[in-house]
Formats: sequence, structure tokens, C-alpha cells
Amino acid sequence: MEDQILGLHHITAIADNAQRNYDFYTKVLGLRLVKKTVNFDDPGTYHFYYGNERGEPGTILTFFPWEGIGKGRNGTGMATEIAYTVPEGSFKFWKERFGRYKVKTGEPVERFREIYLPFADPDGLEMTLIVPGMKDERRPWTTGEVNEQTAIKGFYNVSLALKHPDPTADILTNVFGYKQVKQEGNRYRFLTDSVPAASVIDILADDKGHPGYNAGGTVHHIAFRVKDEETQMRYREKVLQAGLQATPKIDRDYFFSIYFREPGGVLFEIATENPGFTRDEPLAELGSHLKLPKQFEQARNKIEKVLPVLKTI
Ligand code: ZN
Repeated sequence: MEDQILGLHHITAIADNAQRNYDFYTKVLGLRLVKKTVNFDDPGTYHFYYGNERGEPGTILTFFPWEGIGKGRNGTGMATEIAYTVPEGSFKFWKERFGRYKVKTGEPVERFREIYLPFADPDGLEMTLIVPGMKDERRPWTTGEVNEQTAIKGFYNVSLALKHPDPTADILTNVFGYKQVKQEGNRYRFLTDSVPAASVIDILADDKGHPGYNAGGTVHHIAFRVKDEETQMRYREKVLQAGLQATPKIDRDYFFSIYFREPGGVLFEIATENPGFTRDEPLAELGSHLKLPKQFEQARNKIEKVLPVLKTI
């Protein structure tokens, strides 16, 4: 099991206003900000990581908040919907909460005999809550308002909208070890049995679809989880053998990454479990300091002046 792709590691999306993003994910959804850092490729903007207490892979949603970027548009070649697992019986709580905070929600939808509750974040990022058929033992982060009976446990699945699904399905099955387990209309479900959660990918086939536009409220990339760098390098070889290009290994401080564009147009990443978010902050203090990679530490004063002030109380 350990040398396999272990489901999702994280998903990264784009936001506009940093404060609005922080308030929504920590206060309304009740997730933990597990790391506050900057975009390593653009250190004048934040990079926020939200997850459970430890920021375990499969629970981490990250954002680049680019003030003024404006709204993007979902379309083919993109990850278009993120589903979070919640405990059985919690939909009533979430519906009331979304009503109170004026969160945009949709009518519940049924897929594969499971009910999804759709909602959107303040930038329009399309998300759902779901009580999965399979048991989810992950321990959630809790807050004064979102307790263990209702709290989000982490990802259930992500949906990829694709004009031509087959080449992407090939990567998921032949390279990443997922199996196609179900189909309903134009939705194809893939599952890996290497992990008990964050193990599902849906492909939505849409041959008449139009390409999306990547800006606020859309997903930038999805990252798959591997145990360590050795496993990661083995998968990099497999990606190259499949005729795709991949970046070299990049140090992201909290994990190591390689990136490649899968044939359907979605940016995929393979990220390691090591070293994790406690490498530069103790568990109790995760997310409470602005952490910078060492190449930017000497520019800390300048960076702190440029970044928007974030009220965290
Ligand atoms: Zn990433």
C-alpha cells in the first residue's frame, strides 16, 4: 500500500480577498488555518492552508488570495467541484448555518445513491457536503460553533470536467492505480483502495463543454498523495513513460512536489507526506505565525508590509 498513490493530498484554488477567504473557511466552515505563508512564486501574496488539526493530507484546501483578480469560470479541463465529508445527520445544521451566513446553496442532489448538499464559497468556488456510504474515521478540527457531530472531516471527492475523458481515465487507472467503479449518466467514478478516505475522483464527460477560465473561485490544481520522495520519483518516471512532461521535484517546505498537466488539461501534482506542517511551528500554534521559506526570510519586513492585514480574531 505504502508505495501507491494515497488518494488526494491537497487541492489549491484561487480567491480574491484574503480576509473574506479566511473568515469563510475558519469561521463559517470551521476548518483550521494550518499554515499562513506566501506564494513561493509570488511572495507578495498569501498562501493559506486549511485542514484538520494536523493538516493531514486529504483534508487540505489551499488558496492563493489575489486581491482584485476577479471571478473565473468553470469549464472543461478543470476540477469543477470539491466535496467535503460531514457526519451523518449534520445537513440540518449546515443548511441553517449557510442560511444564517448567507452562503449560496443549491438543492441537494443524489449521485450514486449518496446525497450531496451544494454550496459556494464567497468567490463562487463550487463545493458540496456529503455523508458518504463508507465510514470516515478522520478526526475533524472543531470550533465553538462547529462541533464533532457536525464538523467537516476532509475531502470526499473532486470532480473533473473533461471534453474527452478517456486519456485522463487512463492516467488515473494505469498510472495512479485507481479503478473505475461506477457510472451514472456522464459521471464516471474512480476509487483507490489504498486509503480509506479522500479516495474518490469523478470525471464528468462533457464533449460539448467549453474551456473554463482560471481566476477567483476556481481550482488551480489538485495534488495526489505519496508517502515519500522515493515513491514520488517512481511516479514521475511513470508519468514520463506515459508520454507526459513533468517538473523536477520542487521543495514546498511542507511537502515535495512534482507537477504535470494531464491530457484533459487539469494541472496535477504529486506531493509527499513529509515533512508536514509541524516542521516550522508546533502543533498547537499551526497557522498562527506568518511563515516564510528561507529564501524570503531576509525580505520579511518588506513582505509583511505588502501583504494585506489579516484579522484572525
Ligand atoms: Zn499544490
